[in-house]
Amino acid sequence: MDIQTKIVKVNPFDPDNELIREAANVIRRGGLVVFPTETVYGLGASIYIERAVHRIFEVKKRPLDNPLIVHIDNVDELEKLAEDIPDKAYKLVKKYWPGPLTIVLRRAKNVPSIVSSGLPTIAVRSPAHPVAMKLIKYSESPIAAPSANLAGKPSPTKPEHVVEDLYGKVELIIDAGETLYGVESTVIDLTGRKPVLLRPGAIPVEDIEAVLSEEIEIPEYARGVSEGRIALSPGIRYRHYAPDKELIVVESADYSELNNYALKVLAVAMELKKKKLKVGIIATRETKKVYEEKGFITLVVGSRSNLYEIAHNLFSVLREIDKADIDLAVSEAFEEKGLGLTIMNRLRKASRFNIIKV
Ligand code: AMP
Ligand code: MG
Repeated sequence: MDIQTKIVKVNPFDPDNELIREAANVIRRGGLVVFPTETVYGLGASIYIERAVHRIFEVKKRPLDNPLIVHIDNVDELEKLAEDIPDKAYKLVKKYWPGPLTIVLRRAKNVPSIVSSGLPTIAVRSPAHPVAMKLIKYSESPIAAPSANLAGKPSPTKPEHVVEDLYGKVELIIDAGETLYGVESTVIDLTGRKPVLLRPGAIPVEDIEAVLSEEIEIPEYARGVSEGRIALSPGIRYRHYAPDKELIVVESADYSELNNYALKVLAVAMELKKKKLKVGIIATRETKKVYEEKGFITLVVGSRSNLYEIAHNLFSVLREIDKADIDLAVSEAFEEKGLGLTIMNRLRKASRFNIIKV
């Protein structure tokens, strides 16, 4: 059964206090508010209102064993949410907060366990977005917020993505235009002896290693090459970011001979075309001509010289696959360096591991 959803437009740089107060009142009364962050749109509820947190899972159709990230506006809040906070956490927080880094710590007893899906840990970050910060402040509560999409769909980077997925399911959607990074936060587990990357994100893992002067363990599931089995970051087990149509990712060990690589991607597309399938190609500005000359539809995700641009556009392009006049999509791949690791994690999952190596 649908409810009435109000959509309000705000200035992302200087949000109107009255509008944000209204949104905070919805949170305080146990409602759900979709709000912008610098990564993607979030679906928020007060962490202390269990019924509201439960509704986040219902509305998204998110499995209850996939924990949420808690958003705070002030570092001091961290000590109310977590215990045994290691020095490493403070080092990272000092450097990256507010910003797209989530840290996993031991959960404090007073935090309702539903937020963490019963795990003894808690994932926390402080978002660098004026709207998100003000909303948390006026709500007078940390806000639990996963991405504001239906589970399994690409995360929302534009208000229209949110409307597609959640209109009629939430009380309020705050429209502040397109988000800045377009991919989610980097998630680092700091509860063990060694830091572990649970999810690559908007901050390259190499940068975080430099701040810590320590190597971060990168499990296979963080690369997105396999589904996770363990309970540490349950989110990694589920279907993610996926368009409804088939997506095939064409990977290579080497992208330096770009024209050669594009010709191999083209060959994959040609084979599919022989089967009377209408193929679209997720391409880059450098390579799109190769495919267009042969009559293929391209969805340009950005330039290879700017991985931020590719990360920024990726989820939107994944949603376009379902709207374009094609039967399936073939995507180029990227070297797993810097943001390339984040992009490959999302692409591989979006393809449900439908990967061809050339
Ligand atoms: P989303 O908010 O939809 O971007 O997903 C949040 C991500 O953070 C998922 O991959 C979760 O598995 C992960 N996460 C949240 N809380 C925890 C936690 N306590 N321990 C490990 N991973 C977590
Ligand atoms: Mg998500």
